[in-house]
Parts: sequence; structure tokens; C-alpha cells
Amino acid sequence: MMTEKHNRSDKSTAADGRTGGKVWLAGAGPGDAGLLSVKAAELIGKADVIVYDALISAELLSMIPNHTEAIYVGKHAGNHPVPQEEINQILVQEAKKGRKVLRLKGGDPFVFGRGGEELETLAREKIPFEVVPGITSSVAVPAYAGIPVTHRDFTSSFHVITGHARKDGTLNIDFDALVRLKGTLVFLMSVSSMEQILRGLMDAGMRPDMPAAVLEKGTTAGQRRVVATVGTLKGESERAGVRTPAIILVGKVCSLSEKLHWAEDRPLGGKQFLLTRPRRNMSSLAGRLKCLGAQVIEMPAIRTEPISPNDPLRRALTRFSEVCEGRWLIFTSPIGVSVFFDALKELQMDLRSVLGGRSGVKIGAIGSATAEALGGYGLIPDIVPEIYSALELGRAVAAHSDKGEYVLIVRAEEGSEDLAPPLEERGLVVNDIPLYRTEYEVNPILREAVVRMIDNGEIDAVTFTSGSTVRGFVRGMGEINYSKISAVCIGEQTARAAKEYGMRVEIAEKASMDAMVEKIMELFGNPRERKRMDGKE
Ligand code: SAH
Repeated sequence: MMTEKHNRSDKSTAADGRTGGKVWLAGAGPGDAGLLSVKAAELIGKADVIVYDALISAELLSMIPNHTEAIYVGKHAGNHPVPQEEINQILVQEAKKGRKVLRLKGGDPFVFGRGGEELETLAREKIPFEVVPGITSSVAVPAYAGIPVTHRDFTSSFHVITGHARKDGTLNIDFDALVRLKGTLVFLMSVSSMEQILRGLMDAGMRPDMPAAVLEKGTTAGQRRVVATVGTLKGESERAGVRTPAIILVGKVCSLSEKLHWAEDRPLGGKQFLLTRPRRNMSSLAGRLKCLGAQVIEMPAIRTEPISPNDPLRRALTRFSEVCEGRWLIFTSPIGVSVFFDALKELQMDLRSVLGGRSGVKIGAIGSATAEALGGYGLIPDIVPEIYSALELGRAVAAHSDKGEYVLIVRAEEGSEDLAPPLEERGLVVNDIPLYRTEYEVNPILREAVVRMIDNGEIDAVTFTSGSTVRGFVRGMGEINYSKISAVCIGEQTARAAKEYGMRVEIAEKASMDAMVEKIMELFGNPRERKRMDGKE
């Protein structure tokens, strides 16, 4: 068992003001994070501690806030799972500390999830609980393979059965009854007993040419399907090397997948990306990649920590407002823009007195995203260089200013050294004030899952939008084989940082999220989509 401890208050307050623990037994769906219920998603954000097992995908884990304690109670390769009784006791102990406990399970918690046993323990201990149903793999995995579990032309029922063998290796399944029902059969936990199941059905009179399928890692980027017949499925799935988790589906509806498959046909279907930007400006890229069908793991590698209180900024702004000649205010990141305005509020300095002053203010922004952020505060920059780099910004400002003008740069503590020299050469007075510093962080819960996925080649690319995201990622991941990583970078500087660690590097045409998405589509998009983008279709 692995536990991650973080500092967090152990108390939670109930609606009536009492301090009391509670357990939410929630289903997380079969893998695609989009299939999480709204209620479960809210609980992930609010829980004090989350107890989860092996079926929870990395994409889902990436939604757990860094400060939330997460307790893994699943199996590791070759290891045994945590015994059920121990899991029950963890839930009891955590709730008794007065914490909000989220017990997160794959699929639906009551479909072969042993959720009932956990609740019985809680009921015995008089611990309050709620159940949040989840989307079960038994219906969703076929759906993502283009197989409706019922269809008026084929079947009027479906049945969900466990293929889990008893201790003596036998199955507790009444095959005669199943064959007589003529419904679609869904077998969970059945990969290792596939042969017995298929033989059992045929021995009970099912025709060997009855369509059957095995569906692996359904709803995730790694989903695969093998469609055959009851007679041939075992051989076919061995050839394909099918592994758990997978379900076996038996019934005429299986033949529909050839016509109705869709998930892997999406522009980025079957692809998985790791995003490393700080969370607050990550959602746009993540959302767009998800819309195109990709699975997206958000693992912010850096966090910005505003410098507060910021007396040097107060002094610089006071001086700024007193300047008589021309003056410049320079921004080099969208985060810098929002931290700047937060700082004004904290310093109780009014924008009118800062910008009003005795001479006009010119504003420089390093790129379109920063210009966009300034726009949100009603400021339209005078200068945005064609090429997104500190050097080009310095050159552009120098070219548009007169000797002696005052340039106030508000940016990260570890900002690029390329910005000031062109300004100083032009004879400008430069004041470079740090607004925030970058802290490196990688969610420890995710780290282990991501290392394993990189090793298995399950992550198609990692996106980087600054040198600091590269450094944060490398610090967080530690000793791994970086040559296995395909890095999609926003610009030359970022690419240089990624190359230093041996990553394979691709660079977006422009420094924008649009260009990042375009680059990803060009490299990883479905061939059909790529052709369409090239105008060939
Ligand atoms: N409570 C879960 C099932 C738990 S039993 C649910 O409602 O889905 C675990 C079994 O579920 C696995 O052995 C496998 O048969 C099935 N399963 C879960 N997620 C799956 C997935 N993404 N793809 C294929 N099978 C899955």
C-alpha cells in the first residue's frame, strides 16, 4: 500500500456545524474522465482523503488536488491487493478522524465493486455515508466500441456476469440458463477464464458462430477490441495479446461494431497527452485536445508563488508614476499580468495613479497570450514582437523608444537575461521587478503512474510551454529515460531545454495554443483528419 501524506486539516465541518466524518462511495466510470459524474467530480475537489484502486486512470488521478491525501489500495504488478477488511478499516479510521472520505472505485461501486461490503462495515460503525453511482464498464465499454448492449433486431436483455474463478479454479456460472435467456452476455473479470467461459457456453448449446468480442481498456486512449465468434475468440484474443482490464461480450450485437465503431476514429482518438502547464492556464489546451478525442493527463510541473509583500514593486510603481519623460510597462507572461493586478490591489495602489502620472505610458507584451491577458484589464499593448522571445521584445521596445525613457519590467524572478541588454544599449533606464517565483512540483500520486506509462509507451507526447515547465517536469520525474518522450514545445527556447534532457522535440509554428493544437494534429491526428487539414480531402 502506498500513501501520500500532505499537510491538511484533519477536521471537516458538517452542515450543522458539528465536526463529523463521512464517506462517499463513488463510481469513477470506466476510465475516460469525461464519464465521471458531476457529483463525483465535485467530491474529488472537496474530499480530505481519497481512497482509490487500480482501475482509476491517470487522467482521473490528475484531477485530485495536490494537497489532498490519496491512499492507493489497489494491486501493483505482481503484488497482492490490499485485503478488503483492511480497506474497510481505512475508511472507518479516516471517517472517525472527522474527515470527508471519498472512496473512489472504477465503474459503478455496486457492480462487482465490493461496495456493499464497505457500506456494511460503515453502517455497523454508525458512520454516515452516501453512494454516488458511476457509469459501469459493462455498458460503457461496449458503447465505446460501437456495440449497443441491446438492439430491437437482436436481443431484448443483457446480463452482467463475473468470470472470476473460485479458489478451486471453477466458475460459478449456470451456462444452461444463460444460453436459454438469449440475451447479450457481458463477462467482467474474465480474461483469465476466457477459455472456460466460451467452452461452457458451447457445451450448453450455443452455436460456435455466435458473435463475440473482447474489449480491452475501454473508453481510454488504449482501448482495443477483438471481434470474432464464440468458437474463435480465444485464439484471436491470444494473437492480439489482450490483457486485463477487459470484458468479454457475447451476442449478435457484437457484429454491429464494424458499422458503428467511432471512438478511435475521432481526430485524436486513441492518443494520450501529458500537459505540464500550471493548472490555471492549462484548461484551454486540455479541453481542446479532449474535444478532439484525446485522453489528457494534466500534471502541472510548476506553480507560481506571488512575491508578497512586494515592497520593491511599490517603490518602482511610485517612481514610475513620477516619471516625466516616456515610460514603458513590460509584461512577459499572462500569469505576470494577473499577479501584477493582484499586487496593485494588495498594495492599495489605484491603476489611475500608476498609469496617470505625468507622461503617457506605453505597454509591451511578449506575445499574444500576454496581450490577451492585458486585454482583460482594458489595456491594449503598444508593442507585441512578431517572434515570441525576450530578446525580440527587448529589441522591439528599444526600436520604439527614445533615450532616457523609463522601462519597468514586471515579471518572474528568474526571467530571461536576454530582455534587458537591448534596452540598456538604447540608453533606457531599466528597472526589472520580480512579481512571482516559480516553484517546481509534480503530483506524487501521479508520478508513479506516469513513469510506468512512459515506460510502456502509453503517452504519445508531453507538451511544454516554457523552459520552466521542462525543468519542473524533469525535477519531478527524476531518473527516467527521456529519449522515450516526444515533447511538443511552444518555441525554440522551450525546445532547447527539452533537448538538453534527450527528449525528441517538435516545435509549434507559432507561440500560441492554436499552433500547439495544430502541431499535435499534424503529428498524431488520424490519417483521415491529417489529409483533410492538408486540403486533400
Ligand atoms: N465496478 C466496475 C467493475 C469492477 S470489476 C464497473 O462497474 O465497471 C473489474 C472488471 O471490470 C475488470 O476485470 C474488467 O472486466 C471490467 N472493466 C473495468 N474497467 C474496464 C475498462 N476500462 N475496460 C474493460 N474492462 C473494464
